Amino acid sequence: MRARVYSLGMTTYWRVQDASKDPQQLLDPATWQSRVWSGVAMITCPDCKGYQTDDPCYTCRDRGQIEDVRYGVSACRTLEDLYRYFGRRMGPDTITAEYLEDCVLIEMEADVAEDDDHDADEGLSILVWPRRIVSVRPFGPEDIPAEYIEEQW
Ligand SMILES: [Zn+2]
Repeated sequence: MRARVYSLGMTTYWRVQDASKDPQQLLDPATWQSRVWSGVAMITCPDCKGYQTDDPCYTCRDRGQIEDVRYGVSACRTLEDLYRYFGRRMGPDTITAEYLEDCVLIEMEADVAEDDDHDADEGLSILVWPRRIVSVRPFGPEDIPAEYIEEQW
C-alpha cells in the first residue's frame, strides 16, 4: 500500500495592518469588509442596475451606485509578494511609508475568499477568510528589503 501524505495545516497568508487593531478581530466574519487602499470605489447598484427604475431602491438609496466593499481580508500569499506589494507604493509622494510606521505583520491560516481583491490585477494580493492567527510581529517601512522598493516617481 502506498503511503499518502496528508496536509494537516492550512495554507498561511501574510498581512500588514495597524498595530492598534486586535489581530484576533480578523477571525470575525463580521469584519471581513475589504475596501480600496485610498478613497472610495463605487460600483453600479446590483439591485436597481444604476437607477433605471421608477421604484425606490433601498440598496443604494436611489444613488445608482454603492461602495465596492468585498467580503474578505486583503492578504499576500508569500512574504515576497507582500514586500513587492508595499515596495511598489513607497515612492516619495505616497503615504505608504507613513502608514507603515505603526504596523504589525500577521501570519494567518486562511481560506481563499470568493471575491477578488481590489488590487488583484497586480497579482500580489488576494482576499482571504482568516481562520487562525499564527504569528504577529512589529513591522515598519524599514522591514521592506531595499531591492523591493521601486523608484518609479
Ligand atoms: Zn439601487
